[in-house]
Amino acid sequence: LPLVAVVGRPNVGKSTLVNRIIGRREAVVEDVPGVTRDRVSYPASWNGREFTVVDTGGWLPESRGLAAAIAEQAKLAVELADVVLFVVDATVGATDVDEAVVEILRRSKKPVVLAANKADDPRAELEATALWSLGIGEPLPVSALHGRSSGDLLDRVLETLPEPAPRERIGEAPGGPRRVALMGRPNVGKSSLLNKLAKENRAVVDSVAGTTRDPVDELIDLGGRTWRFIDTAGIRKRHRENQGADFYAILRTQSALERSEVAVVLVDASESLAEQDLRIVNNVIEAGRALVLAYNKWDLVDEERRFYLDREIERQLVGARWAPRVNISAKTGRHVEKLVPAIDTALESWGHRVPTGKLNQFFTDLVSSHPHPIRGGKQPRVLFATQASVRPPKFVLFTSGFLEPGYRRFIERRIREEFGFEGSPISVTMKIRE
Ligand code: GDP
Repeated sequence: LPLVAVVGRPNVGKSTLVNRIIGRREAVVEDVPGVTRDRVSYPASWNGREFTVVDTGGWLPESRGLAAAIAEQAKLAVELADVVLFVVDATVGATDVDEAVVEILRRSKKPVVLAANKADDPRAELEATALWSLGIGEPLPVSALHGRSSGDLLDRVLETLPEPAPRERIGEAPGGPRRVALMGRPNVGKSSLLNKLAKENRAVVDSVAGTTRDPVDELIDLGGRTWRFIDTAGIRKRHRENQGADFYAILRTQSALERSEVAVVLVDASESLAEQDLRIVNNVIEAGRALVLAYNKWDLVDEERRFYLDREIERQLVGARWAPRVNISAKTGRHVEKLVPAIDTALESWGHRVPTGKLNQFFTDLVSSHPHPIRGGKQPRVLFATQASVRPPKFVLFTSGFLEPGYRRFIERRIREEFGFEGSPISVTMKIRE
């Protein structure tokens, strides 16, 4: 998806604006210098166009002065983005820092949309016109806080976006090679595995059009078929060891995920599971992608480690209990060939549809054998169920009242027991009919 990066000094209202654009109030925290957020990019859409918004606000290296930090931020944004949304505080006007950013933006020749924020009243709106002096085009007065003109702003952003590459659209029927993202924290063995897989059978190195971030995919033949491994440049490239590396890696991971159908998450089996492993797994689930867990460095796992590993998995990866698991060694090649069947299983589940008749028969039986507990004299029932989508499978339950979370989890578990879905996240939502 095309990427819109939001740049500007702290407190100009970037986060509020990002919240407006993605249509929600929570989530994005205020600018905190030196803090790298776990999440830096957000899916958004406007007039049917989908894009990704990156809030650079969370990435401000503290070490150097503010001006240098913002300059770094702007460079990063420019490197990544298709369009830069530059936010200036209209009530303050252009500062030296803003002008330094403009220099960077101008040199990059990236399309820039200039938002004059905090134009909450006519006077501030007038002040916004002074920002013509920045020399990067018309300042668009907006009020992120009140939502004023944010539609106009998005119109402007969309006008400058590149055309979408159709095959990258989420949920679309798969055409061409299936798209696999290899993920995992640094040093789990991603590039070793990629090398192993690609060794004899790399077919083509192919750059994907329609983006300026030049991710490079590799087409690799495995098990008699061609697979597209997403953004392998991001795996092979050794990240610079600077403060931006985190930000950059997270972003890169997210966009690889967005373009993939299935993620193979590598963990280092010889070490304890890390917070970051769990976060990556959660990202995959949240993104609604099929998931395979690969325990790498199995050559280093002994009896004792294995004992702890099984317990770790049970305790910490409960949310991904449904994911197929392969124990591999990228180094020796052990069981690497088992990845393909696992990926196949996950992808098949991801695209699986349960016929409505079968689903409702299942619910009729379930509701009579395991009715919802009676609450306040009422007993909510599932009246009708349908699978609203595949890739990933989403179920909608029409109910006669609110189903409590425990019962919904029970339903989800039973759906899996009955219909499989190994390797795919599923979601169950309800619509209450009074
Ligand atoms: P990446 O950062 O995830 O791409 O990880 P690398 O592929 O660069 O691997 C990190 C280190 O782990 C390297 O020293 C590899 O040689 C080593 N490594 C990768 N896979 C294995 C494995 O299966 N067994 C062992 N013993 N070492 C491995």
